[in-house]
Amino acid sequence: MNGRYTLTIVKPRAVEKGYTAPILNMIHEGGFRISALKMLRFNRDDAERFYEVHRGRPFYEGLIEFMISGPIVVAILEKEHAVEDFRKLIGNTDPALAEEGTIRKLYAESVRSNAVHGSDSDENAAREASFFFSTAERF
Ligand code: GDP
Repeated sequence: MNGRYTLTIVKPRAVEKGYTAPILNMIHEGGFRISALKMLRFNRDDAERFYEVHRGRPFYEGLIEFMISGPIVVAILEKEHAVEDFRKLIGNTDPALAEEGTIRKLYAESVRSNAVHGSDSDENAAREASFFFSTAERF
């Protein structure tokens, strides 16, 4: 499975604004297969664990506050070169710099409220997928 999947999160503000379905549609049109999907609200402990690598950075507290502020939608996406291709589909972390036609260009508001998360390596995709989903929840 390595190299074949990535993990995405539709972040709170995008869920609140009703962008979940349009984003999932772009994911489908982009050739990804959704092999796991759920809606949940992060608690602080889990959000801090998920973003452990950013602890200590100036934006860390704001990122945690934002990610626990409302429900999120989490999915595992399958495709060859999933991590790399999904990073292309979502665009730059800062929507002002995101390429035309990318998810962040279309649906993000700011660097913090940037609509979606995408794993940045196969190793992190594996860690993040098992963070949210048990084997029985993956299809
Ligand atoms: P990503 O892989 O493109 O999501 O970016 P990173 O892994 O570098 O950062 C994780 C998340 O932290 C981003 O998606 C942003 O929501 C947030 N973030 C990153 N850098 C900044 C920053 O400089 N300022 C703020 N406010 N948030 C940031």
